[in-house]
Amino acid sequence: MTDSPPDPLPPDEQALRAKRMRAYTELGLGLALRPRLAPTGASPGAESPDVIAAPVPEPVTRSVPEPVTRPVTMLAAPRPSRPADALADLEQLAAEVADCQGCGLCTTRRQTVFAAGNPLAELAIVGEAPGAEEDRSGQAFVGNAGKLLDSMLASLGLNRQEHAYICNVIKCRPPDNRDPAPEEVASCEPFLQRQLGLVRPRVILVLGRHAAQALLRTESSIASLRGRIHAYEVEGRQVPVVVTYHPAYLLRNLGDKAKAWADLCLLESERQRIGSER
Ligand code: SF4
Repeated sequence: MTDSPPDPLPPDEQALRAKRMRAYTELGLGLALRPRLAPTGASPGAESPDVIAAPVPEPVTRSVPEPVTRPVTMLAAPRPSRPADALADLEQLAAEVADCQGCGLCTTRRQTVFAAGNPLAELAIVGEAPGAEEDRSGQAFVGNAGKLLDSMLASLGLNRQEHAYICNVIKCRPPDNRDPAPEEVASCEPFLQRQLGLVRPRVILVLGRHAAQALLRTESSIASLRGRIHAYEVEGRQVPVVVTYHPAYLLRNLGDKAKAWADLCLLESERQRIGSER
């Protein structure tokens, strides 16, 4: 008697797996660094006994993700409920930002770039500043960097429409994509604080050195900020923060994608820890 073949996966499960496989490939992850794909309904990142049979795009020479270190004082509190009119208040805040002349960038921007994604999401992603495509479109994280960010989310089984609220520390593009000046960050940061105060995320992923330094009020290098959980105060509550490279940097430095994957693993472990505390 022979074993019957396993039932084929439902089409939506197949599509989800195909999407995640593409994400792993775009992240440059060899087979050894990919999580086994979980069945539908399992928590993101959970392992399944399935073997990934897709071809490996390149030889695996990278190290496994780095261990997590957590300050013992870092405690996750339950998510406080949002104000009843938080969505309307976010719209009002976006209108205020659109009229802002708080720093010199108001004279060079085409338009302000407020946010993308789901304001009800538990994950907030914070970058540093809009680029040329964002300035043209008014949308946060579009273009190739936006696509890579979407792939990073897809590798965790997430997408921006449902699972993430995406914004920048400053809302206007610095000319020629130069680094934001400290006084520009200082002028714009109150908007970010109000924005996150209305969204009230349970965890924050920070993209890039400038965003990390602004949020965490430090001049430390991104290398020293990666690999551990930080905190950002939102409405009197310490929200866990994970730091990783900006997707635009990763597009120019492919060798650091494995480090970004380690950061995503850290983010995922934090998400699961918070989820298990509900
Ligand atoms: S960067 Fe921020 S503070 Fe400066 S003009 Fe734009 S919205 Fe206003």
